[in-house]
Amino acid sequence: MPESDDPEPNGGGSQKPDGTKKHKTGGKPREPIKAVRGVRDITPDERAIWRVAEHAAKRVAHRYGYREIETPLIEPRELIERGVGEGTDAASKELYRFEDRGGREIALRPEATAGIVRAYFDHGLNQGPQPARLYLIGPMFRYDRPQKGRYRQFFQFDVEAIGGPSAALDAEVIEVARAWLVDVGLNDLRLELNTIGDQKCRPAYLELLRKYYRPLKSQLHKECQERLEVNPLRLLDCKVPQCQPFKDGAPRMTDHLCDECEAAWTLVRRLLDAAGIGYQLNPYLVRGLDYYTRTVFEFYPASASGQQDALASGGRYDGLAADIGQPDAPGVGFAGGLDRVTELMTAEGEEVVSEPAAEVIVLPDGDLAAEAAEVARVTRSVRSAAVDYEPRSLRAKMRAADRLGARWAVIFNKDEAARRVAQLKDMASGEQVEVGWDELPARLS
Ligand code: AMP
Repeated sequence: MPESDDPEPNGGGSQKPDGTKKHKTGGKPREPIKAVRGVRDITPDERAIWRVAEHAAKRVAHRYGYREIETPLIEPRELIERGVGEGTDAASKELYRFEDRGGREIALRPEATAGIVRAYFDHGLNQGPQPARLYLIGPMFRYDRPQKGRYRQFFQFDVEAIGGPSAALDAEVIEVARAWLVDVGLNDLRLELNTIGDQKCRPAYLELLRKYYRPLKSQLHKECQERLEVNPLRLLDCKVPQCQPFKDGAPRMTDHLCDECEAAWTLVRRLLDAAGIGYQLNPYLVRGLDYYTRTVFEFYPASASGQQDALASGGRYDGLAADIGQPDAPGVGFAGGLDRVTELMTAEGEEVVSEPAAEVIVLPDGDLAAEAAEVARVTRSVRSAAVDYEPRSLRAKMRAADRLGARWAVIFNKDEAARRVAQLKDMASGEQVEVGWDELPARLS
C-alpha cells in the first residue's frame, strides 16, 4: 500500500524538507498520541460480548475433544512465508515483519496454522494420539487496508486437527465452526464448500485453467493477467467485474479430481448431509493461501455476499508440514473471526449485561482511606469490592456508585468508623441497615 494511503495523523513525527520523517525522541508531543492505524481497543463494556464468544468457542472446542494451545505472536519470518506461500498476499503485501535486535527476521503471525503445525512437531504432539486436536484464541496481524470488519490486529478462534488424513475430520471441523456460530446466536448461516484437489490432480487442472484463460488474457484485469501463469486458481475468486464473464466457462476442479480426492469429496458431503448441515457448492471458492488441499469452506451470514463478511473459513492443508521443513502430516482446520462475530452479535441485538466493576462499593464520607481499605479487605472475602477514594461529597459518590452498577454500598463517616460500623445499602431496593464491619461477610454472602 502506498504510504500516502496510510497517513499517520498523530505521533508520526514531522516531515523534514527531504521528505523523511523526523521522529521526536523527547519533549511533550504537540497532539495526544493515538492508537496505530487499523487497530482498536476493546473496552470493558465491549469485552462482555467478547467473553460470550470466547467462552462459547472454548466450550464447543472442548465438546469435540480439542485442547487449547498457545503459540507466540512472533514467529520466524521464513515459517510464515513458507507456510502461507511466498506468492500470496498474506506473505508478500500484508505481513508485519521486522528484524529484531539480534538480526533475526521475525514476522507477527498473520494466522495461527503455521505456528500450530510448528509447535505440533516441536513438542512431539506428532508422537501422541493422532490426530492432535488443538485450538487457539488470540490476535493475528495483517497489514491490510483497514475498514469495518477488517483490522490490522484482529482475533481468531482457530481450530486444527493435525495428523489425520480422513475427510471425516474435514466434516468435523466444519461442524465445530458451525456449532460455535450457532452457540453465539448466529443461526442464519450460509456455508460455502469446494474442493481444490491435491498435488496429484491439481497440477493438470491448473494447466487446463491456464489453457482456458490464456486466449482471454488481454480481457482480464491487470492482477489476474499476472496471476494467470503463477497462481491461476486465484482467477476463480477474482471479484473485479471485467473478469466475471469468463468464470462460467472455466473448467471446474470437481470435474478433474483424482480417485482419492473424489472419495474424500464424496465423504465430506455425505457426513455433512448426515449431520444435517446445509451447504452451497461454490466452484469459485479457492482461498487465498497456498497450503490448502481438497476441502475448502467459508461461513457467511446468510444475508451477506461480499468476501469481506466471512465469519469463519478454513480447509485441509496436507502439504503445509512439508512446506515448513517437517515430515508430511495431513491437517485440516478453520479460523473464525472474533471481531466480525462479536460485531454481528451486537448488530443482531445480542444482549449481554456487562458485569459491574465490583459488587460492593465502599463509600467513606470524609478522609477515611485506611478505614475504607480495611472495610473493602474484609468484604472481599465474600464479594468483589472497590473503594471510592475520591475527595468528593457523599452525594457525588452515591451517583457514581449507581453508574457503576454495584449491588451494595457500604457507607460510613468518621463517627461510625470510630464504632467500626457502616450503613449497608441495597442499591436496588434502597434499603439500608447498620452493620458492624466484622459482620459484613456474613451479611453479604
Ligand atoms: P482467514 O485466516 O483469512 O481465512 O480468515 C479467517 C477469519 O478471520 C475470516 O473469516 C474473518 O472472520 C477473520 N479475519 C480475517 N482477516 C481479518 C481482518 N483483517 N480483520 C478482522 N477479521 C479478519
